Amino acid sequence: MSPRNQVLGHSYSWFERPPGFVFRKQRTRGGANLILRCDDVLLPTLAERYGTPLYVYSATAIREGLKVFQTAFRDVLHTICYSVKANSNLSILRLLAKEGCGFDVVSAGELERALAADSTVARRVVFSGVGKSRDEMTAALKAGILIFNVESESELLLLAECAAQQRKMARMALRVNPDVAADTHPYIATGLRKHKFGVPTGAARRLYAMAAKSRYLKIAGVSVHIGSQITETAPFGEAMMRVADLVRALRAEGHAIEYVDVGGGLGIEYQQPRNNFVEYVANYARAVIEPLRGLNLHLLLEPGRSIVGPAGVLLTSVLYKKQNDGKRFVIVDAAMNDLIRPALYRAYHEITPVVQRQNSSREETVDVVGPVCESGDFFARDRNLPEVEEGDLLAILDTGAYGMVLASNYNTRPRPAELLVSGKSVKIVRRREKLRDLYAAEL
Ligand SMILES: *Cc1c(COP(=O)(O)O)cnc(C)c1O
Repeated sequence: MSPRNQVLGHSYSWFERPPGFVFRKQRTRGGANLILRCDDVLLPTLAERYGTPLYVYSATAIREGLKVFQTAFRDVLHTICYSVKANSNLSILRLLAKEGCGFDVVSAGELERALAADSTVARRVVFSGVGKSRDEMTAALKAGILIFNVESESELLLLAECAAQQRKMARMALRVNPDVAADTHPYIATGLRKHKFGVPTGAARRLYAMAAKSRYLKIAGVSVHIGSQITETAPFGEAMMRVADLVRALRAEGHAIEYVDVGGGLGIEYQQPRNNFVEYVANYARAVIEPLRGLNLHLLLEPGRSIVGPAGVLLTSVLYKKQNDGKRFVIVDAAMNDLIRPALYRAYHEITPVVQRQNSSREETVDVVGPVCESGDFFARDRNLPEVEEGDLLAILDTGAYGMVLASNYNTRPRPAELLVSGKSVKIVRRREKLRDLYAAEL
């Protein structure tokens, strides 16, 4: 517990994520222990009652994350359209909708979830994605969503056709690719010419002119999304400068541009030192707003990870410890099918014992690995961890985003249960899968 982090005058260890996940001191006969809790509930209690592996989310942290965005953008007209793909659990969507959130969806499935969470939310839904099918467009038109982010000429034509068929106006923005580089993993960078997303800024005006000729398309905005897990604010500012130029050019040509969809992508600090989130989002807001000043726009924001990422942990139990020629392994009951980020992006997640014994300061260097039959099935490599024992409980931190949504049944492993904790209240928001669920759809 040596490294400390200052948040609002309080000192926290690197293994705490206030306000959701903080250690509480508990005296025992052998000395004092520090026990990790989610809101007001101790995590060992949840592991005992619901088993592991287990995703646990803090409602307080989610609300707080959203509030930080709302506050940072309070001086401009804006709608926060939470990116459903980061964590699409219905109860989390419902919680966010109650706080005034709209949604960014990338499939008919996500649209249906958003509507199931809040049947009145359609007017705050934006539909993104390079490969919307005819059926998906039709469903979104029927629901009456706020705006389609169109990503190609062919999609524009198909949207016009679907809208005409239903005699419904489709409000649309073109997703432009501003060709700005952002420092992130290549799989989640999207803002360069070589990426499949959006249309080049240079081609945009021709496509807007095309859209203007269609009776059932209503040009309403310009959209961008330059990637995910971007921890510098400058690339967002750069993208907005290009968008601002485009908005001026489009308006000069007579197009009514009301919305700018800024996309999502603001990263979180998975590793120490962690930044001050409030200042960080305020800087992000400044970078985004400044280039658009005076244009009188309605901003659409699509944060995902930055709201739910630090609000979740994956709890897992140590099954075995073993040493192969001096290399130490901690084998846990969660695996790459439950959390694929380390395997897919070589992502770093902080891992901590849920109970830290204060009088034992021994550390060891270990690989934390799961039971799946792949060497890529690891959560940490050569990591210094406090010495753990078989049966101990570990928390893998910052797994509220791109955790459960990317989980699979590889190795015919049931996906974990998900809990949403709010203060003292604990809700099972997704039950653990049963083995028979896994083959129920098969012949
Ligand atoms: C993935 C995605 C987001 C959310 O990204 P985060 O990094 O989770 O904030 C927002 N908009 C679009 C179009 C996306 O594809």
